[in-house]
Amino acid sequence: MSQIRIVRIHNELLGTYGDQGNAEVLEFRAKFHGITANIIDVSYNDDLPTNGDIYLLGGAEDAAQLLSLEALQRGANLETLHFAIERGAVILAVCAGFQIIGNRFVANGQEVDGLGLLDVISIPGDKRLVGDIKTTSTVLGFELTGFENHMGRTILGPTAQAFGKVITGHGNGDSKYDGAVNGNIFGTYMHGPILARNPEFADLLLTRATGRKYAQITDPLALKYATWRRKVI
Ligand code: GLN
Repeated sequence: MSQIRIVRIHNELLGTYGDQGNAEVLEFRAKFHGITANIIDVSYNDDLPTNGDIYLLGGAEDAAQLLSLEALQRGANLETLHFAIERGAVILAVCAGFQIIGNRFVANGQEVDGLGLLDVISIPGDKRLVGDIKTTSTVLGFELTGFENHMGRTILGPTAQAFGKVITGHGNGDSKYDGAVNGNIFGTYMHGPILARNPEFADLLLTRATGRKYAQITDPLALKYATWRRKVI
């Protein structure tokens, strides 16, 4: 595959925390590996494209999060995501996006059903969790750094696996784990954007989405900064 389609979902709603940058990092890293990337922006009124390789959701304030959920529950969008998962496409969902793809969440005092793609539920805690976060990924075998800013606490159900073990910060709220993962579906509280701060993770998502193997990151500058961040947080 020398072309990759990156679907950026609801930038106008899920762009508050800068996570839209994940699409640009993927585009940049893809180019680095000789792959042409197309970023497809999907707005509130649009249908999700059925041929995406990577679907991205970002963080948002509660009201925007509920609007995004409403749009994703409309028409064939949820079916499109289920087919995408079966095809082996990647989903990366950050913070509000992570809560949206879970089973249930509370936002703006409203309890709603999520998309049910990850076996998690999220409820607000009594204080906002803000600051640097560092984890060891349970599946990737390396450390990740990011920035968190959320009220939500996330509880994993029996079929969800935590994405990261917390070294610094709060993650899902218990200061033990961050996010959840199931196959190629990744949920996390890490902004940054996470892929800008952890280029190896971007490469891993490209590997999963294209079926090609990138043995290791070969961009010394990107690696140097990612390593430096892990030391200072
Ligand atoms: N509204 C959600 C919360 O506070 C998500 C916040 C975010 O995306 N940063 O938990």
